[in-house]
Amino acid sequence: MALSLRLAATLIIANTSSSSIALHGHTFARTEIWFYLKGVNSRVLVLNQDFSPLMVCSVERAFILVYLNKSEMVRSANGHKIHSITRSFPLPSVIRLNRYVNAPYKGVNLTRQNIFKRDNSECQYCGTRRDLTLDHVVPSSRGGQHSWTNLVTACKKCNAKKGDRTPEEAGMELKRKPYKPSYALFLRDVTGAHHNEWDEFLEAKSA
Ligand SMILES: [Zn+2]
Repeated sequence: MALSLRLAATLIIANTSSSSIALHGHTFARTEIWFYLKGVNSRVLVLNQDFSPLMVCSVERAFILVYLNKSEMVRSANGHKIHSITRSFPLPSVIRLNRYVNAPYKGVNLTRQNIFKRDNSECQYCGTRRDLTLDHVVPSSRGGQHSWTNLVTACKKCNAKKGDRTPEEAGMELKRKPYKPSYALFLRDVTGAHHNEWDEFLEAKSA
């Protein structure tokens, strides 16, 4: 798919505060080009050259990657288009890099925010979304690990109630056994940006 220089510049301008932008030797004024994004499908799945999922990026970045011939459009977002003054283009949903990026699979970082995301930002004991903190299922004072399978989202109230006990000892039941999310699962379920066009590529990775 050939993208106009004008459209790529427009998309860059939309993301910058400057009044003009230089791209491939051309300078574009912000007011020169008009565009709008139609639709809500604004996140794009980026595949490595071997079709394995790499990351999620903005639709603007995806268009620039396609325009600069660093990637190709694999799936468009059904029914959605990007318009310039005179042309329209399918809105990307999945793109694939033309060159293999050597990004050793590292999995999902164990962070407070990612644990909250895995747990749908709900206390794993009572379900509230308020006053959230992290709970070691097996307390760290008793050898509990700082790991995906021993950390859960808990509200401060439940955390205090549970204290230095296991859920069994405290008579508190976990809504779901904590698990280590695969990267594909994380992209699909946790980024909150999942689109149907992504499924076939994410399933390949998690298999
Ligand atoms: Zn709670």
